Amino acid sequence: AVSNLGALDAAHHLHPFSDMKKLNAAGTRIIERGEGCYIFDNHGKRYLDGFAGLWCVNIGYGRKEIADAVVRQMNELPYYNTFFGTTTPPAVLLAQKITSHAGPNINRVFFTGSGSEANDTWFRMARVYWGAMGKPSKKAIIARKNGYHGSTVAGASLGGMKWMHEQGDLPIAGIHHIDQPFWYGEGGDLSSDEFGLKMARQLEEKIDELGEDNVAAFVAEPIQGAGGVIVPPATYWPEIARICKARNILLVTDEVICGFGRTGHWFGHQHFGVEPDLAPIAKGLSSGYLPIGGVMVSDRVGNVLVEEVGDFNHGFTYSGHPVCAAAALENLRIIEDEKLVERVHDDIGPYLAAGLKSLEDLPIVGEVQQVGLMAAVQLAEDKTTRKRFEDKEKAGVTVRNHCLDNGLVLRATGDRMLFSPPLVITHAEVDQMIEITRKGLEHAWTVMKG
Ligand code: PLP
Repeated sequence: AVSNLGALDAAHHLHPFSDMKKLNAAGTRIIERGEGCYIFDNHGKRYLDGFAGLWCVNIGYGRKEIADAVVRQMNELPYYNTFFGTTTPPAVLLAQKITSHAGPNINRVFFTGSGSEANDTWFRMARVYWGAMGKPSKKAIIARKNGYHGSTVAGASLGGMKWMHEQGDLPIAGIHHIDQPFWYGEGGDLSSDEFGLKMARQLEEKIDELGEDNVAAFVAEPIQGAGGVIVPPATYWPEIARICKARNILLVTDEVICGFGRTGHWFGHQHFGVEPDLAPIAKGLSSGYLPIGGVMVSDRVGNVLVEEVGDFNHGFTYSGHPVCAAAALENLRIIEDEKLVERVHDDIGPYLAAGLKSLEDLPIVGEVQQVGLMAAVQLAEDKTTRKRFEDKEKAGVTVRNHCLDNGLVLRATGDRMLFSPPLVITHAEVDQMIEITRKGLEHAWTVMKG
């Protein structure tokens, strides 16, 4: 093994979303190996990965079946494209397989290399759709503050992260943001249900402001992920769906995190009982083993693209890449055969929920939100009044670092601790996750109050 990887990294590698000055001083964590729900660094230290990489390693690490499928496809046909009327067997079979788990109105997939590209793709698709429908003025897209839809120019613009917009002069024109349905932080005196309705109706107000004839689509993650695992109040999604329908706006659910079992359903929109017109996917599609994404396209949009538009002038060299598609196909076979979606819904999701609930006796735990294997623990300074710490970052990072030192990877978004473990996590591993988290929370309480 190369012994000076850390120094080489500091000298040559620019990292995404990392404070590079601090990184260079403290040294990069070098992850060498993964097995099941564990990853191992170059010092041999083992971590339970409570975050499934970046919300993506749904089947866990080290599944040899995927490696075998990849090698088979590499030997058969390492690359061919899907442009100009060609395709490859894995790309066709994968499109069919994905749509078999979506509702009856979704029958087509457009492939991309990532979730960001998937968001850029539907962004153009929505405008092309309205153009073909004789309504070219319907161009504006409404998205949400604190949403995350990727790092490309359109993806970062659709996202509502202020600190991303500040770099590169974003968002691009034509993208507007409404508030997120974050009851704990922003709900005030309203009940959760009242607040859900109020936030959903911001969509209608924004449509009125922009003019219905100028709005193409509304996009949101079913459960906002990077923004802090914000599970919306029960009233939120039905009202959003009603407004999109009544005002003739395409509904786009970003399934990049919520898709492929994370919520205990194949797709997050199914948990909330709504039907999207377009839905970007990635991550769990291949469990992150190889990069692949796509857009699931409803018949409403797909039929117009095929019959009216014909030639959608858009695509990527790696759209439907055969080796990535073969990996994704094998990944979906594993999810099906091992009934991982049902397992999340009926067994390990409720088990995680009970574990997290047991943390509610701690003074620092303001609330727990969980759907399937996607969960957040909200930190509080005074849980009786929903008062949050002045230094939210410090509170979250203190918990996260304590957990990391004790062999558990979690994520902190401000003062929310985020959980998204592989769907194959065992009961014993959930117990271990909860135990380490409890210690991290107790430690942070002492630090913040001491
Ligand atoms: N959409 C959502 C909801 C995401 O969470 C992400 C990535 O975290 C993306 C899109 C972007 O995906 P990618 O990083 O594959 O470009």
